[in-house]
Amino acid sequence: MLKFNLNDIVRPNVLAMEPYSCARDEFEGEASVFLDANENSLGSLAGEGYNRYPDPRQTRLRMKVAKLKNVKPEQVFFGNGSDEPIDLLYRAFCRPNIDRAIIVPPTYGMYKVQASINETPIDEVLLTDDFQLQTDKILSAITPNTKLIFICSPNNPSGNLMNRADVVRIIESFSGIVVVDEAYIDFAESESFTTLIDKYPNLLVLQTFSKAWGMAALRCGMAFAQKDIIDVLLKIKYPYNINILTQEAVFKALDNVKEKDLMVSTIKASRKTLVERLMNCNCVRYIYPTDANFVLVKVVDAPAIYKYLVSRGIIVRSRHNVALCANGLRITVGTETENNTLISALNEFCK
Ligand SMILES: *Cc1c(COP(=O)(O)O)cnc(C)c1O
Repeated sequence: MLKFNLNDIVRPNVLAMEPYSCARDEFEGEASVFLDANENSLGSLAGEGYNRYPDPRQTRLRMKVAKLKNVKPEQVFFGNGSDEPIDLLYRAFCRPNIDRAIIVPPTYGMYKVQASINETPIDEVLLTDDFQLQTDKILSAITPNTKLIFICSPNNPSGNLMNRADVVRIIESFSGIVVVDEAYIDFAESESFTTLIDKYPNLLVLQTFSKAWGMAALRCGMAFAQKDIIDVLLKIKYPYNINILTQEAVFKALDNVKEKDLMVSTIKASRKTLVERLMNCNCVRYIYPTDANFVLVKVVDAPAIYKYLVSRGIIVRSRHNVALCANGLRITVGTETENNTLISALNEFCK
């Protein structure tokens, strides 16, 4: 296990700065007269309570999520989607044009986009042909300025879980932060890496309410890590980054874990049927194993099939131009009707 010292890798300006102290940070407790935040004291045109700024620390929500995920409240961070913590990680740890990050294509596009915005040079180490980590190559790509390694498991767009031992080896061999993006973990038969955050001070796990929970429109992503890393993210985030509607809706939805699990089981069952039916399509060459709510399929001619499906009002994601994914289409598991429509169209195309 390499030595990990958070203060050695936080950008010096971030380490030194005073965070903005908002009105709701400076007073905690019970009061009845709030004249501290220049809100409209008369009320709101949007509904009861919306004239007040929301809790900048999302305390109630954090306690509830911590309980569900079996972590401590101070190990939880909420962002405006997972995209926010991804951006904040670059801003917190990567001095522009100096510090670097490693990504392992084909993977989620936002790691690279946010790196570009933040002027963080990226080192890319391709996954293997079956979309696993080339661990030795990743470890030799680490430089003294490498601060972040992004690993997506289950991976988007391939759908597979990364071998756990490989991920652990990278965590144990790196003195920067390993980000394990688990946006699709609910659909997988594997334990979350959140069980390891107490053990590894350089591990950060991303999850989201956008997929299994069915709340993509609300924009709420989660990051889990030891308190020191979470505190850095809290220090630099926008004070009121999660609006009250989202905080309240997510808080309520968390009472329905059973319903969420039921939806996940239904989606997993449909996934199985969809894969079986895709196997019988003449235009499908290969179906990659998936632990997510989508499946990557290799087809005879992805651009043509994509276009054909669009003409039938069916949109899938072409990954044809992505590394290792030539002729790949990424297909989300839909409702039974949607899946039927897709399969009929594919059979129509290749008949
Ligand atoms: C969908 C997805 C997310 C979630 O993004 P949100 O901003 O939380 O909606 C994160 N990572 C990956 C790999 C995804 O596919």
